[in-house]
Amino acid sequence: MARVGFCLDPVFLEHDAGPGHPERPERLAAVERGLREAGLAKALVPLPARAATREELLRVHTAAHVDRLAAAAGHRVRLDPDTAMSPRSHDAAVRAAGAVVEAVEQVLDGRLDRAFCAVRPPGHHATPDRAMGFCLLNNVAVGAAAALARGLTRVAVIDFDVHHGNGTQDAFWTDPRVLFVSSHRFPFYPGTGDLDETGEGEGRGFTVNLPMPAGLGDGEYRRVYREIVEPIGRAFDPQLVLVSAGFDPHRDDPLGGMAVTPPGFAELMDVCLAVASGAARGRVVAALEGGYDLGGIATSTAAVVGRMLGRPKPALTDAPTQGFEKQLGAYRSAHALHWAALRP
Ligand SMILES: [Zn+2]
Repeated sequence: MARVGFCLDPVFLEHDAGPGHPERPERLAAVERGLREAGLAKALVPLPARAATREELLRVHTAAHVDRLAAAAGHRVRLDPDTAMSPRSHDAAVRAAGAVVEAVEQVLDGRLDRAFCAVRPPGHHATPDRAMGFCLLNNVAVGAAAALARGLTRVAVIDFDVHHGNGTQDAFWTDPRVLFVSSHRFPFYPGTGDLDETGEGEGRGFTVNLPMPAGLGDGEYRRVYREIVEPIGRAFDPQLVLVSAGFDPHRDDPLGGMAVTPPGFAELMDVCLAVASGAARGRVVAALEGGYDLGGIATSTAAVVGRMLGRPKPALTDAPTQGFEKQLGAYRSAHALHWAALRP
């Protein structure tokens, strides 16, 4: 059985985004409950979080951004209309980023096969120099940068959160060592992630955006991941796969407007594992991003972690809707320029 690390540090519960905020500490209790109720908790290896070092953060973020967050430690600060810090938020953010770095290191050292980091605050909207969209530091980007610093030359980041991972895109926009693939509702917050955003300079082609109309379910997601994400990912053949695991495409999510169910999320993780089946030798590190329905978070985390552990695959029942061929065709024509695997 796969050795799968699981990280959930108590300080992640102390980040308070404000009264009534959907990104609330109860989300992590839902993760724990989901794993326990699915009988997975005891199969996981506890993975301690540590604070990311300044050097690790500066691989992705500017000194001005890191210093601005540090100066807010101990205070309550509003950074944008929906992103705020409480007195312990800085500690939580630095340990969330450090948790992903630690997971990457343990996986690359062979102490773990895979890991799931149940972190708060989330990270994928945090750009190199700005906190936004509930995110302070870009946990997954800092983890990818740690892998590059250890000499890896091909790291894939697959982001299935319903929102575009604009911060991760910005961090690796010109870097051909990181393949960034994001499926997301579009147009939608944060406004980026259109098909023609593919990277620049040496990084051209290594940003793959898959903008989606609202309302898609398991059938459509399965086809997007099997027919677009998997061939591109296998062609890139990463040495490590990082997953921005946002559960806001869940059908009960109050913000997402999609219709994915837990077996659908299991299917997305299966594609991530398939992309990791070459040079990565199965090494996958996932980190929690969004997801705001507590029941949806619980059951979806269990579905995803179950697949990481190699537990049986839940049956997927939803069929693709009529007319989805056109959408897949748009992805193929946009990305076939850089990815021969998509050409007919
Ligand atoms: Zn999201």
